[in-house]
Amino acid sequence: MDGVRLPADAMLPGVEGLKGPLRCLNEARYGIVWGVMGAARSCFETALSYAKERVQFGKPIGSFQLTQKKLTDMALELNKGTLLAHHLGRMREAGRLRPEHVSVGKLNNTREAITIARTARGILGANGITLEYPIMRHMTNLESVLTYEGTEEVHTLVIGQALTGLRAFD
Ligand SMILES: Cc1cc2nc3c(=O)[nH]c(=O)nc-3n(C[C@H](O)[C@H](O)[C@H](O)COP(=O)(O)OP(=O)(O)OC[C@H]3O[C@@H](n4cnc5c(N)ncnc54)[C@H](O)[C@@H]3O)c2cc1C
Repeated sequence: MDGVRLPADAMLPGVEGLKGPLRCLNEARYGIVWGVMGAARSCFETALSYAKERVQFGKPIGSFQLTQKKLTDMALELNKGTLLAHHLGRMREAGRLRPEHVSVGKLNNTREAITIARTARGILGANGITLEYPIMRHMTNLESVLTYEGTEEVHTLVIGQALTGLRAFD
């Protein structure tokens, strides 16, 4: 029996070859640039509120300098990543967004979101590993985001190629 034959443009009408699917992937990766910052914001806000309430050594843990440094570093990366997403969005609207720009956003924001989630987990102590708080759920999700839609290594190589003009993979 003959297999089902689909016309060449059945899935993405008007598009030839791999251009269409690759454009879809680029759009999905652009979405990730924002999505991971949402997960990071949830972790940061959970840690901030917990640090102001949890009392140890007679004081909220948010009053200790080490905790404040953690919260400051988290806030810096969260806001930088969100600004990067805004910037890429403006480039996208202007039709100037290239795949390597999306690689910068996907790689940076996923990596920083994981660091933020990990720091937040530490601030919550043992409570950080429970499902009473959203941090472990975000952490495991972010670990898989690091792999899908282009792994950390592959986006690194895409940026490396854009910087050097030399392709490290085929
Ligand atoms: C939750 C989840 C959802 C997914 N959803 C989809 C989906 O909807 N559609 C789909 O098609 N796929 C999907 N994937 C698959 C995903 O795209 C692949 O897992 C990913 O591309 C890596 O492929 P791999 O697992 O075969 O690892 P491998 O290709 O075996 O890579 C293993 C490791 O080696 C590294 N590596 C490979 N080549 C190089 C190199 N040249 N230099 C340095 N390091 C290198 C990789 O970066 C990685 O760290 C999903 C994966 C996950 C985890």
